[in-house]
Amino acid sequence: MEKILAGYVGRLAPSPTGALHLGNVRTFMIAYLRARSLGGKVILRIEDLDHPRDKPGAAREAVEDLKWLGFDWDEEYVQSERKDIYREALSLLPAYPCVCTRRDVENAQSAPHAGEQLHYPGLCRGRFSSWREAAEFCGEGRLPCWRYRVDEGTVVSFTDVFAGDYSQNVSSVLGDFPIARDEGGAGYTLAVVVDDLLSGVTEVVRGDDLIPATPAQILIAEKLLSWAESKTSHSVKIPKYCHVPLVVGPDGRRLAKRHGDTRVASYRASGVEPETVIGRLAASCGWGDGKKASLHELIDVFSLDTIPHAPFIMI
Ligand code: GLU
Repeated sequence: MEKILAGYVGRLAPSPTGALHLGNVRTFMIAYLRARSLGGKVILRIEDLDHPRDKPGAAREAVEDLKWLGFDWDEEYVQSERKDIYREALSLLPAYPCVCTRRDVENAQSAPHAGEQLHYPGLCRGRFSSWREAAEFCGEGRLPCWRYRVDEGTVVSFTDVFAGDYSQNVSSVLGDFPIARDEGGAGYTLAVVVDDLLSGVTEVVRGDDLIPATPAQILIAEKLLSWAESKTSHSVKIPKYCHVPLVVGPDGRRLAKRHGDTRVASYRASGVEPETVIGRLAASCGWGDGKKASLHELIDVFSLDTIPHAPFIMI
């Protein structure tokens, strides 16, 4: 285990919605090496709140895959065991239950643009006095979601450590964004913010598909700062963000099954060595020539500066 010298705290946050593949590994490798090269701490957080999509056994397999690849961490927790804390955080937010379907939201767009995030104009603001009332309205088989009431003219800007300046007018781009589809607030958007604050994460390194979701997370974090401060013994700050390019297939789409089998478990089963996998991914970040490499030996050659800003095309 690396000696913890500085105050850097990073995290690896796999969602057990499927097997770990080379795309996930590249991002985790960057996150891990960034932390370790700064003498920092690494937290492993299993983000298992996405119930319909979570696959049984996927969390355990992700942990085994990560260990096989040479990752280690100083602390580990599972989001599904922290529901009380999300419930408490939810009670502090300007949130309301919403029963709108995707179709309702699509119909409410003033100027729909293909591929852009859906804007929610607050149709359910003030409509229900409780989650229960909203759930009754939905009936069997469907649940309301919690939405964050965004004030008109809310603009969030941040300087991403890798991707640079980013600014979003949250009220006009997202409107009242969803924070969880669970009565107690246990859902990705709220949980990720609560956990990063309470764990003292100083920098979030993750895929750049999450850049547009970051302003909403910053808004939530701002609201929860003093609460988080009261819950921990460390000082609480909104983390820095470092979004790195994704791995894509030759068609330019995010790496997935259709591009062939790049699951870590398959390499493992077929006798490929972890250093072969890591060495190849390291070369895509400008560290080395693709020869075998261990994560440990990459700590000294790690640099964010050599990582290309374009997505890495896996052929
Ligand atoms: N659990 C998310 C994923 O696997 C990552 C979320 C995050 O890093 O904030 O895509």
